[in-house]
Amino acid sequence: MKQIEEPARQIDVIRETDVLVVGAGPGGLAAALAAARAGVEVCLVERFGCMGGNITVVGVEGFAWYRHEATVEADGIGREFEERAKEMGAAVPESQSLSYELDSEGFKLVADALVEDAGVRPMLHRQFAAPIMEGDEIRGIITESKAGREAILAKRVIDATGDADVAHRAGAPTRKTPVEEMQAASVMFHLAGVDKRAFMEGVKADPQTYGDWSTGEWEIETSGKEDKMFSPYLGKPFEQAVRDGLIPKTINTIAGTWGAAHDTGELTYMNLIGLAGCDGTNPDSMTEGEMEGRRQAMRAIDALRAYVPGCDKARLRNFGMSIGIRDTRKIEAVYDMTDTDTREQGRHEDTIGIYPEFIDGYGILILPTTGRYMQIPYRSMLPKRIRNLLVAGRAIGGSKVAHAATRNMSCCAVTGQGAGVAAALSVKHGTTLEAVDITAVQAELRRQGVRIH
Ligand SMILES: Cc1cc2nc3c(=O)[nH]c(=O)nc-3n(C[C@H](O)[C@H](O)[C@H](O)COP(=O)(O)OP(=O)(O)OC[C@H]3O[C@@H](n4cnc5c(N)ncnc54)[C@H](O)[C@@H]3O)c2cc1C
Repeated sequence: MKQIEEPARQIDVIRETDVLVVGAGPGGLAAALAAARAGVEVCLVERFGCMGGNITVVGVEGFAWYRHEATVEADGIGREFEERAKEMGAAVPESQSLSYELDSEGFKLVADALVEDAGVRPMLHRQFAAPIMEGDEIRGIITESKAGREAILAKRVIDATGDADVAHRAGAPTRKTPVEEMQAASVMFHLAGVDKRAFMEGVKADPQTYGDWSTGEWEIETSGKEDKMFSPYLGKPFEQAVRDGLIPKTINTIAGTWGAAHDTGELTYMNLIGLAGCDGTNPDSMTEGEMEGRRQAMRAIDALRAYVPGCDKARLRNFGMSIGIRDTRKIEAVYDMTDTDTREQGRHEDTIGIYPEFIDGYGILILPTTGRYMQIPYRSMLPKRIRNLLVAGRAIGGSKVAHAATRNMSCCAVTGQGAGVAAALSVKHGTTLEAVDITAVQAELRRQGVRIH
């Protein structure tokens, strides 16, 4: 490929901080709050104009749809997201679980309130462009924005970009799922103009189950106990639309779940469009995915209007601000979580929080209807080779099965909170991240309301 040389330049250092968190999704937001509450100065850099990551940017509202009577969880900041959203009128009861569905718009305000209360400095509209390195130590980042390129220096950096952007550019070893094995990307949308009563009567008249997830294009592994449980699944209208010629036969992957039916006529978190082969680290691939996803979403709406009770006057309310990406780079961590950790309740001395046996991805769906859970090791956030850096959220180290659990937003909040506390204490105690006093980290996490054992 033809190349040019980018000239070197002097840029302003606009801020120096103790802990710098890059990316404000469930992982980064939790990391920033936890570090600030542990008593250090924190900056939170985000490329968009709101915090919340996939919750607010993509419209992923199902934060804890796995929760049942016997589910055992870490609580901590993840639970606080739900509680604060409830208090602020930004959550409604979720249809399949003992949880609340977050309102993707309202959560922008929830995140604003949380960072303001904790004293985190939000730095929105800044895209991470490059790490500032001294040998194998990261000393800060360069951002790109309407203000041009700016530098922010930090004693510790937490990469919560979801794609391990910082770790990758800093030279930490990462693995990217091969495109043909990546979990599908999705263009998410929300509807208006739905008759909630008629819609819910239709759902009750023909209740769908998790077993129905296997009847379309995909075969899903469950533990058996999930198969007869209710799921807000929508598959039949799209099969019918293909049979009737409303949707071309070539688009046979439209199916998935609806989120919440609102009294105001909105049907939100429509997770129906699965785009295989979309690489979330390739802007050309994402451009194609955005446009194809929007086209398919409009086909899906045609089918909903034609075949689903209460939806005959439905119209598009909005798409997510961005295509939703599930699966890209993960770090090679000091410890990569294994299938056995995930399926057999892994236990670790350096646990920073527990996560219930909820495995959802790569063709597996296991719900935590029992009290089984695993512990998340601190070392899974510690990248190899690069110092002063932790990775939180969906890019931590682990196998595919491990990621099918740890990618979930409430688990990203667990790793975020663990990373935030560890980074803060390593600054306060003057130790490296490798040598951080894990007992002190665990004590602070407990103080912050996290169950670690
Ligand atoms: C369509 C879809 C449906 C899903 N459904 C569910 C579900 O029902 N329940 C569930 O628990 N999980 C679900 N997931 C998975 C979950 O949403 C993600 O795995 C989770 O949000 C990851 O959290 P994170 O904090 O690691 O990253 P993200 O939520 O992706 O947040 C990363 C943040 O970093 C910012 N960022 C990225 N790169 C840069 C950069 N270079 N510079 C500055 N900022 C940057 C982004 O703008 C974003 O705000 C779904 C995912 C998708 C795509």
